[in-house]
Amino acid sequence: MADQDTMNVCNEIFVERLKQNDEWGERNHTPLKWLAILGEEFGEACKGELELDDEGFRKELIQVAAVAVAAIESGDRRQMQVAIDEAQKAIQEAPDENHNQGA
Ligand SMILES: [Mg+2]
Repeated sequence: MADQDTMNVCNEIFVERLKQNDEWGERNHTPLKWLAILGEEFGEACKGELELDDEGFRKELIQVAAVAVAAIESGDRRQMQVAIDEAQKAIQEAPDENHNQGA
């Protein structure tokens, strides 16, 4: 069943993400660095295919997908931090409503 096949692959990608977190911890690279890491994994998948290594090809594709997920997570954290920074700046720049009361 196609849905089950998809779930099985997504589960493998999830397990690979957990392995990456165990090995590297939370990584917050720039988009360019993420693309370089993806390029490396993609290159390894290409090598697996060129060497007719079906198992290696598949393993590297799982890693490509897991790195893509990590890059998305990192980008989401970056966007969240931008929103937090903007909110903090707005609070700091807001007029102090209590400043001149009761004088
Ligand atoms: Mg690899």
